[in-house]
Amino acid sequence: MARKQKFQSPQGMHDILPEDQKYFQKLYSITENLAEFYGFEKIDTPIVEFAELYERGTGLTTDIVEKQMFTLKTKGGDALALRPEFTPGIMRAFLQHGMLNLPQPVKLFSVGPAFRYESPQAGRFRQFHQIDFEVFGEKSPAIDAQVIQVFYNLLAELKFKNLVVEVNSIGASCCRPYFKKVLASYLRSRFNSLCLDCKRRARENPLRVLDCKQEKCQPIKAGAPQIIDHLCEECHDHFKEVLEFLDELGLPYRLNPYLVRGIDYYTKTVFEIFAENSPSSSEEASLPIALVGGGRFDNLGRVVGGKDVPACGGAAGVERIVSGMKLNRIKVLGEAKKDVFLAQVGDLAKKKSLKLFEEFRKEKIPLAESLSKDSLKVQLSRADRLNVRYTLILGQKEALEKTVILKDMKKGTQETVKLDKVIHEIKKLLKKGK
Ligand code: AMP
Repeated sequence: MARKQKFQSPQGMHDILPEDQKYFQKLYSITENLAEFYGFEKIDTPIVEFAELYERGTGLTTDIVEKQMFTLKTKGGDALALRPEFTPGIMRAFLQHGMLNLPQPVKLFSVGPAFRYESPQAGRFRQFHQIDFEVFGEKSPAIDAQVIQVFYNLLAELKFKNLVVEVNSIGASCCRPYFKKVLASYLRSRFNSLCLDCKRRARENPLRVLDCKQEKCQPIKAGAPQIIDHLCEECHDHFKEVLEFLDELGLPYRLNPYLVRGIDYYTKTVFEIFAENSPSSSEEASLPIALVGGGRFDNLGRVVGGKDVPACGGAAGVERIVSGMKLNRIKVLGEAKKDVFLAQVGDLAKKKSLKLFEEFRKEKIPLAESLSKDSLKVQLSRADRLNVRYTLILGQKEALEKTVILKDMKKGTQETVKLDKVIHEIKKLLKKGK
């Protein structure tokens, strides 16, 4: 058995190989088209931020911060973290650059890697990529619906079938603290039957128990009070309007009273989007895992920057979407077809070929070659495989005479052309062929 190479990519982190790049590119290009249509502008924030941004924003007792953050100390003593998610960093940038003074709402999108120390399993990586759409400075429920619509369209364009949006409202500071008390008291009465994690959650962050996937906690969840029955009037009306907008848009949704999302900053609307062929997680008894997650976060601005900014957004998981694109047999562009191949034999011809190759580049005519190969037979068979229409052959004799052989691969004919006329000749032929 071959010995395993010493260095492998770190666990849960993957190379994106050339054959996969085209899926990523296609997804990013659809993202950019949607962003343009819906008026989102691109922002890139650093991949590292102060760890405290996530501790305060995402929340100290969330799994993401408590268990999954990659943190590092700089030589200067700063405690930084690789971003486990985008939203706190984008909110920080929004406030830092005074975007509150711009006409509101400000719509931003971003694409890039995120890092979470997950136990490696299907669909969960330690480095993965997200597409983020965020809307700042607008509290209307129409925005919640529009954010959901943008993500829905992204998946629909990629032929994901039977898309379902799961939605819930988790209220806000006006009603959630009271609900938490009601829930905590219910959980206390069932404390002994909770799984180990939920025993801790029941004390620190009882809402998260509703999110638990352990078999043991399911009956307790089923009997638990539901936040939807404890929303204040404002949160209730907001949610009702979001649902009315979703109805109007014809987006298929399902109310999920257990959807709380594992992040502290959410207020009011939370959502996730699943598809028929959403990948399953191996750990959680083959439950489908979401392709997109998001919600409203009206308090995050105050928590990380001292200013209230109503906002709503979400993140799509790129790797999960790409694996779905493959299942959906989405067509992605192959390498651009080249019509001309340049073959060379002998040292002088090789030298001249390099120059000719550059001239083709300047004229923007795609040209295939095998400059590293010396055998004409090998080069011609490569030209055949590439299915080019014309092959240029430069041998010692041609190089000395400043000519080149132009072979029509379809007709099997060939002629000798002056080297300084060959580009003109090829242009003429390609134009005629069109
Ligand atoms: P979240 O905000 O945690 O729900 O993340 C938003 C989306 O990012 C999820 O719906 C997934 O599609 C994706 N995602 C989150 N964590 C991971 C991970 N560890 N590996 C791959 N994709 C992930």
